[in-house]
Amino acid sequence: MNRRQFFKKGAVLSAVAQFPALLPATPPAKSDTVFIANYDTESPACLEHLESIVNVHLKHRTPATFFIVSDILNDANKQRVVKLLDNPLFEIGSHSKSHQLILPHPLNPRTGNPREQLIDSKKRLEDIFGKPIIGYATPYAYVDGFKGHKDILDIVTEAGYQYITTICWGPGFSLPAPITDPFTYAADGYANLWEIPKHGWHENVLKGHTNVDTVALLNWPSPWPDGAVPQKPIQKPEEEFAVNKVFMDLAREKKKKHLTLAWHPWSIGRFDPKMKALDMTFAYANKTGMKTGTFESLYKNLIG
Ligand SMILES: [Zn+2]
Repeated sequence: MNRRQFFKKGAVLSAVAQFPALLPATPPAKSDTVFIANYDTESPACLEHLESIVNVHLKHRTPATFFIVSDILNDANKQRVVKLLDNPLFEIGSHSKSHQLILPHPLNPRTGNPREQLIDSKKRLEDIFGKPIIGYATPYAYVDGFKGHKDILDIVTEAGYQYITTICWGPGFSLPAPITDPFTYAADGYANLWEIPKHGWHENVLKGHTNVDTVALLNWPSPWPDGAVPQKPIQKPEEEFAVNKVFMDLAREKKKKHLTLAWHPWSIGRFDPKMKALDMTFAYANKTGMKTGTFESLYKNLIG
């Protein structure tokens, strides 16, 4: 180290000592990675927390995609939900009709009627929100999504979905899920259908809200940096933000197309009704210049 470098380094260190908040320990890499907030909105409890979630988004001007189980909307609640989510910041997607699976899962081997879950839910949401729905987020998610399941992909495309999000587990159904880039189902004959995977933790598992004893959870040796895998279920919103930050920084460092975590309003609201973790996460994205968007805006970029 020459004298000039030493002084430069010394100057930075003294500034950090005075204002430790000015510089993160590892400054996030510059990249075009898009951060997408998304919510699997799947129960009446989810709807109870919707207004608080929407308010954090409005405060930070952060977009979001809400994947909704169409059966949870009824005559008593649908107007309130439409009013809350009728905003150019927000995209509506389908999270099935009644949260029944199309493909068996280690956590739930039972499947429902794929036409109802894919086609009927999309039509109902389009009727309620008065706009086209182009995305479907499967309940539970898988390691390889719908790859190789042509019978299912036939119905997905018949329904008119442009993208699906069906991947959110690592090898052997481990967590956290890898930060996988979007791809098309061309190998299965659907070059125009995109998969946009979700990443990291299912936050309900990270908080110990959902029992996942039957799956591996941890892939060993861990490919993740420090802080990605806490020692035990997290207890505080600050811990959730710290974990989110690890994944946001990693996605940018690896120049990934996007980062989107698996969030559920019922679990977020039970853990953190004031939405502090979301507030810190969106503030961090904006402060560090991270791009934000919806699944739909990412999809439009992908197809050019
Ligand atoms: Zn779900």
